[in-house]
Amino acid sequence: SSIFADVALAPRDPILGLTEAFNADTRANKVNLGVGVYYDDEGKLPLLKAVRAAEEARMKNPPARGYQPIEGSVVYDQAVQALLFGHDTQLLRDKRVITAQAIGGTGALKIGADYLKRLVPNATVYISDPSWENHRALFEAAEFPVKTYTYYDASTRGVNFAGMLADLNAMPKDSIVLLHACCHNPTGADLSNEQWDQVIDVIRAKGLIAFLDMAYQGFAEGIQPDAIVLDKFAHSGLQFLVSSSFSKSFSLYGERVGALSIVTESSDESARVLSQLKRVIRTNYSNPPTHGAAVVAAVLTSPELRVMWEHELAEMRERIRAMRIALVEKLKAKGVKQDFSFVIQQRGMFSYTGLTADQVDVLRDKYGIYAVSTGRICLAALNNKNIDAVADAIAAVVA
Ligand code: PMP
Repeated sequence: SSIFADVALAPRDPILGLTEAFNADTRANKVNLGVGVYYDDEGKLPLLKAVRAAEEARMKNPPARGYQPIEGSVVYDQAVQALLFGHDTQLLRDKRVITAQAIGGTGALKIGADYLKRLVPNATVYISDPSWENHRALFEAAEFPVKTYTYYDASTRGVNFAGMLADLNAMPKDSIVLLHACCHNPTGADLSNEQWDQVIDVIRAKGLIAFLDMAYQGFAEGIQPDAIVLDKFAHSGLQFLVSSSFSKSFSLYGERVGALSIVTESSDESARVLSQLKRVIRTNYSNPPTHGAAVVAAVLTSPELRVMWEHELAEMRERIRAMRIALVEKLKAKGVKQDFSFVIQQRGMFSYTGLTADQVDVLRDKYGIYAVSTGRICLAALNNKNIDAVADAIAAVVA
């Protein structure tokens, strides 16, 4: 019989499953708020002008496609470091940061997880409750036990910070704590700067290992303010890991452009850690692809394209914010009693709306509006054409 005869069918990804159901829906006014992708006001996935310009320049004189170094392009890696830690040039001058180009933010988390498994094989990984679904799966695939720490508070629609601190304080030494650097996915609820200081104090006191996931830099307040937590960690003197991604900020989802950065204690440590990380990469995929990282590096290092990109990123950020405000105002105007103003406080692409699974079902079945059953909606999928229909439908289901 077949060697695959007893293979069970794996459950399908809940969010991709939602998109399949959406695509099969024939209603003209359907809206997919379940995705984690930025769409413009026309409902289209943008190709940024800065990206197009960099690609055109590159194609005028197309380079041959040799292998890259295992850790990717040096120009790219340095540009990533400047973006994440640009405010702390001493850290970079001391060579306390190593960066490896990775296959998206997911690839960065994967090589980080594999490397940590070699460094601290008996550690437990803690992720926020709730977190991006793939966090648990990625660290479990690296054979870590994965537990959660208290994070979201449904009653305030914010962070249960006392609960989070208590959980951090109870973690054994060398536990790995996965933190969302900004724009928490799925809740949209972030820590304040003062709260970050307290988190860093506990991480230091308990000897925990912080792994910061930065998938949405530039989507809360701006490139530099969104990296404030990295600045704080860098100044703490702690060692830590950062996964970062240009999927959203460059609208380059399919090119898989990300990076893993590790902050060490010294340049000597950096050299040894990088040598080990390269072994992990080598046995996963040998070395990363060329095109996307070359485009990102060209934009980040060209003064002209850099300005263009920062402007386009600001446009995306401001459009999402405008949609948050418009949604709250429209719900109020439609006579909804419940206070939705928390949607304006939440940051990034998502909001935990507090809609129940039953209400999400009604939104889909009766109005063709698709959201995740947890009540998560993507604000970046709203636009001036669909927002009235969405506000009407939400008003009807919460009434
Ligand atoms: N971390 C978080 C919190 C995310 O939301 C995402 C993307 N949805 C990623 C990492 C992975 O990003 P990428 O698509 O670049 O792999």
